[in-house]
Amino acid sequence: MTDHGADGERTVWTGGCACGGVRYEAGVKPSPVTFCHCGQCRRQHGHVGAYSRMPREHLRITAEESLVWYRSSDSARRGFCGRCGSALFWDGAGLPYMDVTPGSLDEPTGLHADRHIWVDSKGDYYEIGEDGLERRTSAEDQAAG
Ligand SMILES: [Zn+2]
Repeated sequence: MTDHGADGERTVWTGGCACGGVRYEAGVKPSPVTFCHCGQCRRQHGHVGAYSRMPREHLRITAEESLVWYRSSDSARRGFCGRCGSALFWDGAGLPYMDVTPGSLDEPTGLHADRHIWVDSKGDYYEIGEDGLERRTSAEDQAAG
């Protein structure tokens, strides 16, 4: 499979964990990156979570020998590598997309960040710097979907 179309535009994005036990690919460009400050993300990622959305029908997990799913709430599960610990996926039940961690994408990703979410749940040990990105509280984010 080539990763460039006839017009030179990229057509395939690939990614995976640090040890290679989990790999995935997508045939469309992932969404801009969201930084999530919720308590679950901070625990799982060690700090702020970062996610890009990929339409489910375009996301294919191509290696999953060490993929582990953790049910983090009634409506979502989080996928990570059980061998190297890389955080990879956020999978919300019934949603048409799945979130992938942009840090697990192979570079160059071509992505940029566009917002902070759950800013009212951020950790007490840091401030969100002035970066010009949109900011949403947990209520605003849930209302926006
Ligand atoms: Zn791994």
